[in-house]
Amino acid sequence: MRQIDNRTARAGNRIASPRKAASFTAFGLAAEADPIAPGLYLVATPIGNLGDVTLRALKTLAAADAILAEDTRVTKTLLAHYGITTPLVAYHEHSGEAVRDRMIERLRAGQSLALVSDAGTPLVSDPGYRLVEAAIAAALPVVPIPGASAALAALVVAGLPTDRFFFEGFLPAKTGPRRARLEALAAIPATLVLYEAPHRLAECLKDAAEILGQRPAAIARELTKLHETVRRGALGELAALLAGEPTPKGEIVLLIAPPSPEARQAEAEAGLDEKLKAALARHTVKDAAALVAGETGLPRRDIYARALGLARESGE
Ligand code: SAM
Repeated sequence: MRQIDNRTARAGNRIASPRKAASFTAFGLAAEADPIAPGLYLVATPIGNLGDVTLRALKTLAAADAILAEDTRVTKTLLAHYGITTPLVAYHEHSGEAVRDRMIERLRAGQSLALVSDAGTPLVSDPGYRLVEAAIAAALPVVPIPGASAALAALVVAGLPTDRFFFEGFLPAKTGPRRARLEALAAIPATLVLYEAPHRLAECLKDAAEILGQRPAAIARELTKLHETVRRGALGELAALLAGEPTPKGEIVLLIAPPSPEARQAEAEAGLDEKLKAALARHTVKDAAALVAGETGLPRRDIYARALGLARESGE
């Protein structure tokens, strides 16, 4: 239940307008949420398990003047679970400029708005970017309230390198553009993190196996939920498994290991002579070798030897 409270919220040196006290419940206990400063709060919510929400997220959702939700019905379930009664406003991918302008006006008037998506972190393959952009352009405060995201949950459980990863989100739904995008991703020296719809997973794996080869991969399904499963194997093995099974149910993250050092070497060497010949046409052997070594990442000494050979051949 909300009560009137005339305390003033302070955040840094910003002073917010007096706001209502707000509460939430957790573990059967009622807690009061302190007032928050005006601004746009980007609040991460669970990706399945309702326990995966932070205390700060609950406090922010309870104290905000309104919650902007991708689907108000989905967010209602979370709010009901935690006894939060903050009014909801629909804000989804089709929300146009008029809706954004209204939200910016509310922020300008000193309100606090919390943006959530159906699950996980808003703006990550979810709506919100344009609103954040507009808030920043209007010099309004934007505050992250971090928490769950399927991409990171899947990455840490996949068993693939985590030192570098590349978040791709959803690949194009149609085969041609999807294969073209996979080609473009092939040389990236990082674990690839892809969101995929269950009914497209089998064809996506088939394309990925054909284009990226037998890289280690993982399918993380229904993370944090009852049917959480992680399957690991080479891309071709996973593609064959999925081809022989009914369409999987639930939500899926596909992760693919970076190209092996051998594959990267082969990729770098492909077309090496052509690159060197083009460089030799404009530079000395030494400079051409340095240029191509920088471009390909191949050892300078080896490139220099090859450049020298090519220069001699062309001089004969
Ligand atoms: N903003 C969200 C986030 O931070 O994770 C992602 C939203 S995107 C529209 C939804 C996609 O995230 C799903 O299609 C699936 O690929 C992935 N996803 C969401 N929840 C998941 C879960 N519990 N397990 C596996 N993948 C999930």
